Amino acid sequence: MRKAMVAGNWKMNGSLVSNELLVNTILKGADKLLTDSVDVVLCPPNVYLSQICELLKNSSVMCGVQNISLHQSDGAHTGEVNARMMKEFGTKYVIVGHSERRANQFESDADVLSKIKHALQYQMIPIFCVGETLDQRESGRIEVVISDQVLSVLDGLTEKEASEIVVAYEPVWAIGTGLTASPDQAQEVHRYIRSLFSSRYGQELAEKVRILYGGSVNAANASDLFKMKDIDGGLVGGASLKADEFLGICRSST
Ligand code: PEP
Repeated sequence: MRKAMVAGNWKMNGSLVSNELLVNTILKGADKLLTDSVDVVLCPPNVYLSQICELLKNSSVMCGVQNISLHQSDGAHTGEVNARMMKEFGTKYVIVGHSERRANQFESDADVLSKIKHALQYQMIPIFCVGETLDQRESGRIEVVISDQVLSVLDGLTEKEASEIVVAYEPVWAIGTGLTASPDQAQEVHRYIRSLFSSRYGQELAEKVRILYGGSVNAANASDLFKMKDIDGGLVGGASLKADEFLGICRSST
């Protein structure tokens, strides 16, 4: 049985004052009963990591980050922050391969694999994002695109490493657009991703891997998505900035 998970990707949003209000409101709703059945993760911008980890200190809500540097070793990498530094704050999760970084920072599948390995080395769990563009979907290339993205990572991981990651299926056309994949559309791709794990490592491992859906999830559409057999929760952007929406999504996953 896979434990549900909901991770909030704040992207480049927040302030010291608004973060404190948001986190404290989430903490009031995210009691032990809720977090016993869903892993709740907040991924703020790095500059707020210390603040958020401190606010979450005595709670069962966990902290994650949105990215780590490709450079694993400390040194002359101006502006970069590596996995070791993130881990010092108690960071448990890191989003890797988000489509915004693939598109805007030109992150390749090879970069994504390196980051996943760095994260695992520091006992951080990567939330590995994959997804097709609208053009790729409309031209019938969903499976080719998804298998390229997933297998380019699985090919470089050991079986143990593969069993430790979380996958997020995020159709690019649904991110921040208000368009959501229908539960059936999402389930089809989630089932396919699980089948890729199964063909590499067998059914037992594949059944343990959590696969989140991301793309305009909100409190109104979450429960229909999360009811699907292979959807284990969500990676949430815009709606994670509103405490009530985010808590509603978390409750829908239980
Ligand atoms: C995301 O950025 O990972 C995301 C899913 O964003 P949104 O929920 O706003 O579509």
